[in-house]
Amino acid sequence: MPHDTPLIATIVAGLGLAFVFGALANRFRIPPLVGYLVAGVLVGPNTPGFVADAGLANELAEIGVILLMFGVGLHFSLKDLLSVRAIAVPGAIVQIGFATALGAGLSWMLGWSMGAGLVFGLALSVASTVVLLRALQERRLIETERGRIAVGWLIVEDLAMVLALVLLPALAGVLGGQEQADVHSSGLLSLPASYGIWGVVGITLAKVAAFVVVMLVVGRRVIPWILHYVAHTGSRELFRLAVLAIALGVAFGAAKLFGVSLALGAFFAGMIMSESELSHRAAEESLPLRDAFSVLFFVSVGMLFDPFSLFSNGLPILATLAIIVIGKSLAAFVIVVAFGYPLATALMISASLAQIGEFSFILAELGVGLKLLPEQGRDLILAGAILSIVLNPLMFLVIDWMKPWLEARAARTGPPADAKPVGPATEPGQVASVAAATSKEEDGPPPKTALTGHAILIGYGRVGGLVGAALKEAALPFLVIEDADKTLAKLKADGVETVAGNAANAEVFAAANPEGASRLILAIPNAFEAGQIVLRARSANPKINVVARAHSDAEVEHLKGLGADTVIMGEREIARGIVEEVLGSDVEQTSGP
Ligand code: AMP
Repeated sequence: MPHDTPLIATIVAGLGLAFVFGALANRFRIPPLVGYLVAGVLVGPNTPGFVADAGLANELAEIGVILLMFGVGLHFSLKDLLSVRAIAVPGAIVQIGFATALGAGLSWMLGWSMGAGLVFGLALSVASTVVLLRALQERRLIETERGRIAVGWLIVEDLAMVLALVLLPALAGVLGGQEQADVHSSGLLSLPASYGIWGVVGITLAKVAAFVVVMLVVGRRVIPWILHYVAHTGSRELFRLAVLAIALGVAFGAAKLFGVSLALGAFFAGMIMSESELSHRAAEESLPLRDAFSVLFFVSVGMLFDPFSLFSNGLPILATLAIIVIGKSLAAFVIVVAFGYPLATALMISASLAQIGEFSFILAELGVGLKLLPEQGRDLILAGAILSIVLNPLMFLVIDWMKPWLEARAARTGPPADAKPVGPATEPGQVASVAAATSKEEDGPPPKTALTGHAILIGYGRVGGLVGAALKEAALPFLVIEDADKTLAKLKADGVETVAGNAANAEVFAAANPEGASRLILAIPNAFEAGQIVLRARSANPKINVVARAHSDAEVEHLKGLGADTVIMGEREIARGIVEEVLGSDVEQTSGP
């Protein structure tokens, strides 16, 4: 090499190998995350061959953590959390307590300190958002009540971990680790360690509270103002840059000025940006960068893993895995059933939480840095995470096998779906209806509509919304295929029949009964997706009349070529509206509200 460029080498090797192994993992239907970890192991110091710069990889990983937490904040919805709080809050707390106790027990058997047991147990108690969301998405469970419970549960776990990340450095000294001052940036408001445990907790919480107040009072006004200002410049590039600068700036400021963790700062920046629709959407655009850096985070975690520890640590690894997969699941299962939910719901929630991931790595790193957790603990956590993530799809398979058996048993012993809730602090009617609704939801393909001779309207945004209103007015039978949750909820409230999901997906489209439909109306902006759907519709029903939407002459050609009967070009219609307005010619206007 002409120059010595360790940073570039680290990024290139990290991203390149992560891509290769991520793709390989995907090929075997394992989450790509496992591939990223394996890539990390390969460029790490524990395996022969190229060794990336661990210090640089760590710092890159920190950016990954900031952006990951920014994303968690961006998707944090207080409303969603509140709607399932009755089960998610006690459930998560009991599960964390149980898993922490098991982890601490194992730690004690291995002869570690109390502080090590606490960090180890906490690390085993929190599931990975990335893995959970992926599992739910694959099974189309996100919008179901069970899915919402699982996500709410995870949010509570995340919040508990955010708290742990803040408190651990402050308490490290008391717990037998290294004092806070020489480890992490303790900030301007750093405190002497002579306060005793409650003093330290109190001051730390006060610093967190000060940060939260500043964010809620100042951040909440200033951040949207900056975003609006930048939006007016009309530069998308500047907008994304603003989002990124704010996320990183708030995280860094939180750590330097208030001594709270980078993660908490980023979480708050995301939460505040998610408040308005405009900034939320724009902030999501910055997520590709998060994806790139979080890959580097997983690679750097993998670098720390010593694959040979699998042999020397066999038994402890099995015990760790048992805590994650069996212990946590059992706790979750018992709690959900105790709250009067059906067995299927309890199983689904247990399975989706029976893994650990990014938060556990962050905690393990922090614990080792604070000299609380021995390196062996980190190896156990890493091995447990990799194995539990690989096993996770199997957990769902096991549920599918168990379901018929459970349902038969439930039919004999009385339907659990109608069981009265016994949990405290819940309104009985609320949970009962939730349970009944939940038991009707299916994991399989969406149910096929009973409509025939109907119109299938795809997309219910600016265009589809107006078309749908007109169809309703004319009392024509139709259904809508939509993939946006919010729109779906509104349609359901209005009593419009819907099929949820991406219409380009074969199962979703088939549920709309294209064989029996008379019309297909494509009101989505993406002509490639629309083209796929036209092809599918034509092969299911050669006689169906297809009207599609396009935004350029090339798209019109494309869609017509694939079999659309009529293609309406948006820009041409806009021009027509403008000409009509300017010249006053009485071209017939496309109807609108
Ligand atoms: P607009 O561009 O405002 O008319 O919005 C388009 C609408 O179509 C949005 O509500 C999207 O959620 C929805 N949409 C886009 N692509 C698909 C798709 N492949 N399947 C289902 N809905 C879609």
